[in-house]
Amino acid sequence: MIRIDSVTKRYPDSTVAVDRLSLEIPDRSITVLVGPSGCGKTTTLRMINRMVEPSEGTITIDGEDITRQPVNSLRRSMGYVIQNAGLFQHRTVVDNIATVPRLLGWSKSRARERARELMERVGLDASFAKRYPYQLSGGQQQRVGVARALAADPPVLLMDEPFSAVDPVVRKGLQEELLRIQSELGKTIVFVTHDIDEAIRLGTMVAVMRTGGRLAQFAPPAELLSSPADAFVEDFLGADRGIRRLSFFESTALALTKTPIVSIDASAERIASCGTAETPYLLVTDPEGRPLGWSEPGELVAGDIEPRRLLSYGRPFEHGKDSLRAALDCAVLSPTGWAVAVDDGGRVAGVVSQQAIGDAIRSAHAAGEREEKVAG
Ligand code: ADP
Repeated sequence: MIRIDSVTKRYPDSTVAVDRLSLEIPDRSITVLVGPSGCGKTTTLRMINRMVEPSEGTITIDGEDITRQPVNSLRRSMGYVIQNAGLFQHRTVVDNIATVPRLLGWSKSRARERARELMERVGLDASFAKRYPYQLSGGQQQRVGVARALAADPPVLLMDEPFSAVDPVVRKGLQEELLRIQSELGKTIVFVTHDIDEAIRLGTMVAVMRTGGRLAQFAPPAELLSSPADAFVEDFLGADRGIRRLSFFESTALALTKTPIVSIDASAERIASCGTAETPYLLVTDPEGRPLGWSEPGELVAGDIEPRRLLSYGRPFEHGKDSLRAALDCAVLSPTGWAVAVDDGGRVAGVVSQQAIGDAIRSAHAAGEREEKVAG
């Protein structure tokens, strides 16, 4: 565990960048430092690998003060990734990644073999090995940066706004990749960002910092959203925190109904039997059970269902895998107000109304509050 204990950093011009910060960074998980620009995130990160020395306080790793370790061996135990990757422009991708193993005295062939293995791990095609950084997109460069930081297999990764310079779609891909790498390799990651959505998506624990280098709140993302410590954190989380909190509730508990589901090859009798007052629309599926669209009951004629004339079913959610937020989004976007739930094969598992989703949200909140009371 990395423990930051009452650490203050005063720069020579007397700026207090970090003010009596205490944090316990758990092993094998992602801890995100988030806050507005200038609140001391980068300074905190750099104190962990001693690129910046604290003015007061101590930082320990597994109980040992980091100032007692030679700085070189400390840094070797910590990969470091920065915005724009910071690659060596005159070195190929494979040689960029092999940098640290080569410094550690590995043979060229072993270091390159390791580099190629890491390219695969971070989702880079082997054909990029001989390219130079300028021949890669921003997102690809960032993947090289992550691979380079992982090359000597350090237990800790320090990441400073690594994905801030790439567009939102690429960024999402990089975030997913990081979560995958983290779950496979179990690294202890300290991740700096000014983007609260990124913090919530990636963090096991999130430290919200405020200007002046003070800690505002340190909590798991779901707890930040449900119980912000003060008005600053609440403001920083944004106006839609209630909706975003739904991402942490599973859709498993939703009561689905199959009553209004009818296959395109259904008989007239079957069609007649599936309309109810409760579900004024019918969901038509193909013979394999995949959704085609909604129809009003009276409009369906056996043997003559025209998929083009059906109302769009919108984007379905995967029951049990997607969150209540995804289910609500489906229902809100659906022309009928009903969301379509599918299984992992894309076949309809059932449908659920906005109202039933609203009920599930209310009971999830009530259960969450009960848990908080018990924990408190
Ligand atoms: P963040 O990463 O949250 O944007 P920083 O840690 O970079 O914040 O900076 C925190 C504060 O310290 C800012 O006010 C910044 O201007 C100041 N600062 C950062 N580096 C230095 C430095 N080398 N000398 C003086 N002030 C600095």
